[in-house]
Amino acid sequence: MSFEYDLVEGVSEEEFRQKVKSVNELKSDNDYRLASQDELQKVETILDVQKGTLNQVKFFVEKANCQKCDAELGMNDVVKTTIEDAGHSKSAILHTLVGSKYIVDRPKNIHCAHCSEVQEIAGSYASALYGCQSNLA
Ligand SMILES: [Zn+2]
Repeated sequence: MSFEYDLVEGVSEEEFRQKVKSVNELKSDNDYRLASQDELQKVETILDVQKGTLNQVKFFVEKANCQKCDAELGMNDVVKTTIEDAGHSKSAILHTLVGSKYIVDRPKNIHCAHCSEVQEIAGSYASALYGCQSNLA
């Protein structure tokens, strides 16, 4: 299924706050870690946008290592999976990260960018605008 930002129905800020942990909650949640500047730069490269475009984005991923090669899974694995497995366009992903809609979605089974293994368990991830948790949607 393709993902068109224009067609995505966002939720209200209030509903989003009820469903998705806030950035402050995520910061203090030991199950999550904040994507590093290095990861954000990898994502900028994947999305073909200028360096620094995602500087302000706070993207949290549930801590997990690849079941096969043990590489730490991060935002770039999430974004690659979203493009390669879910077929989302780079533009739609960029818009989701820096747009104005609040979006909740089900997490995807991330594939490891290092060894391509698809993980059996879908981890959660979230930003100030976007929440993917298994208890949502
Ligand atoms: Zn791996």
